[in-house]
Amino acid sequence: MIRNLTCGEFVEFLWRYIEGDAEGDEAREFERHLAACPTCVSYVNGYRQTMKLGKMAFENLEAPVPEEVPEGVVRGILAAIRKG
Ligand SMILES: [Zn+2]
Repeated sequence: MIRNLTCGEFVEFLWRYIEGDAEGDEAREFERHLAACPTCVSYVNGYRQTMKLGKMAFENLEAPVPEEVPEGVVRGILAAIRKG
């Protein structure tokens, strides 16, 4: 089955993909969308950057999110945390 992944589905899927839970067709569809969508590429890069900064910040869990993290990424993460 071939269909196009929307950006909304992509973002939802991103969490599982980065955690390593995505497999097979799902992961391929994700990668196909990523190959064709610069918006999502920059979203993923921002996300990865955030994770990296987040790990650095674990030494001080009370520290605020670094200013380099784009506000949209921070909001997306907060929204996902609250939803779960
Ligand atoms: Zn996209």
